[in-house]
Amino acid sequence: MAQDYEQMIQQILQAAMQYNNAPAAAPAAPAAAAPAPAQGALGDIPVGISNRHIHLSQQDLDALFGPGYELTKIKDLKQPGQYACKETLTICGPKGALEKVRVLGPLRKATQVEVLLGDSFKLGVKPPTKMSGDLAGTPGVTLVGPKGSVQLSEGVIVAQRHIHMTAAEAAQYGVHDGQIVSIEFDGPRCGILGNVAIRAGEGHSLECHVDTEEANALAITSSTTFKLIK
Ligand SMILES: [Zn+2]
Repeated sequence: MAQDYEQMIQQILQAAMQYNNAPAAAPAAPAAAAPAPAQGALGDIPVGISNRHIHLSQQDLDALFGPGYELTKIKDLKQPGQYACKETLTICGPKGALEKVRVLGPLRKATQVEVLLGDSFKLGVKPPTKMSGDLAGTPGVTLVGPKGSVQLSEGVIVAQRHIHMTAAEAAQYGVHDGQIVSIEFDGPRCGILGNVAIRAGEGHSLECHVDTEEANALAITSSTTFKLIK
């Protein structure tokens, strides 16, 4: 009888622990009045791991691949309208070069080269860690394509980690576009990362972007998920 009682207590404790650890989307424990999920206990955020890549302007596309050239989509990315292209370019800096760097579409107003921190040492440039599109004061490099080359006076950044989300998701999480938050993740190198920018609104889909260096250093894989911490 005492043993049954012990067992019952254990089962209740286990159930309670599972319930506490479960993501908000998981079914609530039976017969318990589920409390409203606290802020930060919302669904986990999937990761998108970005390698070095290049966004091109129309003018630079023409110069590198020839006038009238059109990019060839090979894969849609999770962010709506964004895609990886068949085309690659060589990036040349004062100290070295990186070959076969993927071009992403669609075209943008200004060419932007997103490299890893390790790449910057190889190239011999000192890009700041910035959000996409914030190119003032960034260094340039030379891009080499099959039909020509372009010397950029600016446009090289190391991408700041960030979370894409819709406006509705931002409201759910209680954050706004441009806000800086932290993320927490499990795994063999689990931890909390700060300085994660929110990018919320039209054309965004829930996904946290880190680069391949960050992912490798922290054993983050495509199946890792993040909890948003304000
Ligand atoms: Zn992104």
